[in-house]
Amino acid sequence: MPLARRAMPSANQPILPGSTIGVLGSGQLGRMFAMAARRMGYLVHTFSPETDTPTGQISDVEITAAYEDLDAVREFARDVDVVTFEFENIPASTVETAAEFAPVRPSGVVLQTAQHRLREKTFLSKNNFPVTPFRHVRSLAELRAGINDLGTPVVLKTAGFGYDGKGQTKINSLDECEAAFATLGGQEAVLEAFVDFEREVSVIAARGVNGEVVHYGVIENVHERHILDCSVAPAQVSPEVARAATEIAESLLTQLDVVGVLCVEFFLKRDGALYVNELAPRPHNSGHLTIDANVTSQFEQQLRAVCGLPLGSTDLMSPAAMANLLGDLWRDGEPNWSAACAHPNVKLHLYGKHEPRAGRKMGHLTARADTSAAALKLVQAAREALNSNQ
Ligand code: AMP
Repeated sequence: MPLARRAMPSANQPILPGSTIGVLGSGQLGRMFAMAARRMGYLVHTFSPETDTPTGQISDVEITAAYEDLDAVREFARDVDVVTFEFENIPASTVETAAEFAPVRPSGVVLQTAQHRLREKTFLSKNNFPVTPFRHVRSLAELRAGINDLGTPVVLKTAGFGYDGKGQTKINSLDECEAAFATLGGQEAVLEAFVDFEREVSVIAARGVNGEVVHYGVIENVHERHILDCSVAPAQVSPEVARAATEIAESLLTQLDVVGVLCVEFFLKRDGALYVNELAPRPHNSGHLTIDANVTSQFEQQLRAVCGLPLGSTDLMSPAAMANLLGDLWRDGEPNWSAACAHPNVKLHLYGKHEPRAGRKMGHLTARADTSAAALKLVQAAREALNSNQ
């Protein structure tokens, strides 16, 4: 028997508190989204292949099933008023199936563009957004030709399912070609020129059902071993760079017809040139500081956008910095939480993950101060204190 559908809300009919939001994915982004949603009186159902997840712990209902289990997807989507997602690696068929029963925001088209590096870079270059020169690589011959075109160093990245530097190899000379190609294991890839950037920055922006766009300004990001280590707001960039970066972000949300949150990651070169590195159609690690430092967090903004509510103020209440807490911090046992909390302007966020593996994002700290530099110093000191004696 076909499953009954809830009435599909029309585009301009807001989904109000008391309604149910479906989240595809169950990590920390879904957790912080669910916290914002529950605070505002919504119910949350989460769907992923795992149990006792960061999002599930905060949700009203945690559904455990494979993304490919389309019967389970139908049941999940039938019981919610709108579906959103908290990570990109969700199969297109899952989103299409969910969309038969409830609006999916942002849409499957946005997800498909952002989840595949080649589609993403092709979209960016076709629409004249500044993007690192790149080539499509399906064979060793294409890799050699690409290196000849782009020069060295270059970075070889799998086209799909990559994050935090996974599936990436830097190639310094043509002799490293074969070994680098072998790491792909037959997957198609993108070859990118290596960018000698001065800084990495990001812009998080949100777009409502009615096309209204807001942004959080420019945030500066420092990576360690390809994983985000610290973020600082506002970034120390010139007003021209800030204007260019936020205009690119606003224009991307509009061109991609995003309803929800989108993060644009950039490389900023010494001459002020910006290159888009990556798009994430969801709240982003660099925006975690918005929970404590902005009037409306990126998670509440996602909720407002996907529910068709008016967007909230993105005003930054004071400079702020965020430091990620990776599983490595647990090397010598439980970190010294009291020591970190001894700093009165530092906030602790933990994601409810039980296994602290090396490189795994377990939580973060946020600090507010009078300047971005002071906030960064404070949050780093608090993180160091975690490994002091209890
Ligand atoms: P990604 O997963 O593509 O965001 O890459 C993770 C990190 O690797 C980036 O934030 C950069 O620090 C570094 N990276 C990636 N691609 C390049 C590139 N083409 N040039 C220089 N650094 C890169």
